[in-house]
Amino acid sequence: MARSPEVALAMDWGGTWARASVANRQGEILWNCRVANGQGASTEQLIENTEELLRQAIDWCDNRSIAGLGVAIAGPVEAETGTLYGSPNLSALNGVSLRDLWEPTLGFPVLVGNDANLAALGEFQYGAGLEARKQGNPPRTLLYVTVSTGIGGGLVDRGQMFLGASGVAVEVGHMTIDFSSTAPRCQCGNTGCLEALASGTAIAKIARARLASQEVQTSSLATLNAEDTIDSETVFQEAGRGDALALSILEDAVLALSVGLTNLLHLYNPDLIVLGGGVTGGLTELGLLPRINSLMLRRAMSDRHKEFRLVASKLGDSVGMIGAAGLVWGKVGTSEG
Ligand SMILES: [Zn+2]
Repeated sequence: MARSPEVALAMDWGGTWARASVANRQGEILWNCRVANGQGASTEQLIENTEELLRQAIDWCDNRSIAGLGVAIAGPVEAETGTLYGSPNLSALNGVSLRDLWEPTLGFPVLVGNDANLAALGEFQYGAGLEARKQGNPPRTLLYVTVSTGIGGGLVDRGQMFLGASGVAVEVGHMTIDFSSTAPRCQCGNTGCLEALASGTAIAKIARARLASQEVQTSSLATLNAEDTIDSETVFQEAGRGDALALSILEDAVLALSVGLTNLLHLYNPDLIVLGGGVTGGLTELGLLPRINSLMLRRAMSDRHKEFRLVASKLGDSVGMIGAAGLVWGKVGTSEG
């Protein structure tokens, strides 16, 4: 009889780095390593780099039996074939099915998913979802939203990822929040998207624009060589010191996030909402998550919709990778059961 697998390989392939790891059934990372994609790398170079990373992971496993490889990738993934398409950050991989490429030679299942969807799965199985189960509050529907350079999200309902017809559902960053004629432009081409109002990129851009106006030269942000050096971290820093402009920029971001999250509350009725990403970290430090929570409660249309908990991510930067491992263990569990 075949041995029950001991480890899963997981990969998180983003716009800058490809990271690989070995994880156990508890979602704990036992080993990890990363390689830079390299600017302007060709499809072949990108794949060669990550194959070397995989070889190192497999070497580390020695004679531990491997359940499979899960890949979390920054871009839309066709669920049936594992083909990446339309990724702005990894465009050299568009049209590539990592499953078809690797499964025949590796000899174990290769499962590919979008990183935000897998982050939701990771939190459901091993992060905030696990913690809630331990506290006697098992989540049914978990919504994960990352507020970082951009804004993305994923949804897990009763253990299953909600993918949509072509795997591009839950694009929470591109909900229209502001449809006025002055709404800021989003990188997706629309105006007034949540991402254009509350992402790290947006916070920095709004800070620079407001500093360029006369009214706010008293702000401590104005002394920081406004044009180039202001990023979202500077805004958080100065808000922490009580700067009125920085605080008002973040208050606008908090309002936009509360409206967006309330829309999601009404659409998906999640009982657990997990916020991740660098901007969430900054908001948490400033004690602003309870404010988002209370604004949502105020807008929610019924008592049922108010039955949610809003928490910060438990898995941090590894959330996508841990979700990728979870995808493998989910598949193994199904075929063994
Ligand atoms: Zn957009």
